Amino acid sequence: MATPQIKKHGDEPTNNVNYKEGGAPMQSSMFGEGHDNPLESMMHRFNRAAEILELEPGIYNYLKTPIKCVIVSIPIVMDDGSMEVFEGYRVVHNDIMGPSKGGIRYAPDVNLDEVKALAAWMTWKCAVIDIPFGGAKGGVRCDPRKLTQAQLEKITRRYTANLLDVFGPDHDIPAPDVNTNEQTMAWIMDTYSMHVKRTEPGVVTGKPLVLGGSQGRREATGRGVMHSTLSGLEKLRIKPTSATVSVEGFGNVGSITAKALYEQGCKIVSISDISGGYYNKEGIDIDAAIAWAESHGNHLEGFTGAERITNDEVLTVDCDVLAPCAREDRITDRNAHLIKAKLIVEGANGPTTAAADPILESMGVMVIPDILANAGGVKVSYFEWVQNRMGFYWPLDLVNQRLEDAMKQAFNKVYLNAQKYNVSLRLSSYVLAIDKVASTLRLRGIYS
Ligand code: NAD
Repeated sequence: MATPQIKKHGDEPTNNVNYKEGGAPMQSSMFGEGHDNPLESMMHRFNRAAEILELEPGIYNYLKTPIKCVIVSIPIVMDDGSMEVFEGYRVVHNDIMGPSKGGIRYAPDVNLDEVKALAAWMTWKCAVIDIPFGGAKGGVRCDPRKLTQAQLEKITRRYTANLLDVFGPDHDIPAPDVNTNEQTMAWIMDTYSMHVKRTEPGVVTGKPLVLGGSQGRREATGRGVMHSTLSGLEKLRIKPTSATVSVEGFGNVGSITAKALYEQGCKIVSISDISGGYYNKEGIDIDAAIAWAESHGNHLEGFTGAERITNDEVLTVDCDVLAPCAREDRITDRNAHLIKAKLIVEGANGPTTAAADPILESMGVMVIPDILANAGGVKVSYFEWVQNRMGFYWPLDLVNQRLEDAMKQAFNKVYLNAQKYNVSLRLSSYVLAIDKVASTLRLRGIYS
């Protein structure tokens, strides 16, 4: 990737548009086609922010490059006695602000480029939500639906053992992501603790409560998405009780987002998971959908409270708010023009490609970007790590109040910055985050 041409802010051609209903004016992007690779999407936005900040070439090169990329081989004896070898990744993007932090995902298609993008997004997210962490991400290429609990445990323990030199409460702290959960974190914590010969809860977050997890961590990402949605609706002058919402993905983030918005009085007209989409114009009973998923192997398959639609239709149904909470690259330059929502709140990481950004901007859709909208998860992960270090645990209402305050503050900061630079909320978030990490890097200097 070439060093960007440094242009002065104000030199760029502008083409102002307004959000559909009120909101700050923003500048349309000059960016064209392609960019379905999350790393390219991340770099495109990084480059635009670097131009606005007139980042020095040295700092630009430092911040675009991960400081560590580890690939590990994970041999496992399967339940039938045969052996299989899985591939695992851990990328530490940056540790200028503090220990690196980021989830681990298990998926058949996870790859190093995806993990690099996700790790960089963690650096920017931690800066936006104001916590003293850098960014990292991990993944294991496997299909959890085809693995037993015993096999998943072996994969997790061997992956952890291979990364003992990377992980640590003062070094790099994993958390759950797609297809990993509290049980996965418990295995990581136990494996690490066995090797260092003491119980070390601070090595992971998103743990079960009895192992030093935090109240409210499981719900934190979805509750944070809810707070971001309310902030966005307020700017668009739409009352939550008259808002219709479509939520893609019904795992940790999607189901809690749907539930939290449902409790705020929003009408959730469609939901989806890997089994397909579900639509009900009158609104879906989210408690019933969660109960259905819980009693059907965490899947919505067969849910009777709505009619079936396709996964793609969930993105384009008539609604005020679209919350993509599944995987990256779902909103692209091929379907962005079909979106009817006035507000997109990115519960997932990277659900919108960089090529879709200018289309949504020209349509006046307000997009609350991933590094802001879903930052509630890492904020409460930070609270969990702080509680582990204090050995003193906070009640749920304190965690939730601090989360709400943090989400509102971050939204307001990003919103004001967007007005200052006349850019989208996404670009504003990148500018804020990169500026903060770059200023810290200048203060610390380079040890050589
Ligand atoms: P999860 O594994 O709990 O849930 C993923 C959900 O997406 C499942 O319901 C799955 O069936 C569904 N899904 C997968 N492909 C789909 C498709 N094509 N269409 C519709 N649904 C599909 O994962 P999660 O923890 O909820 O993470 C979801 C997203 O949120 C990811 O991008 C993740 O990186 C991001 N995120 C997670 C957290 C967290 O705390 N868990 C924090 C920040 C961001």
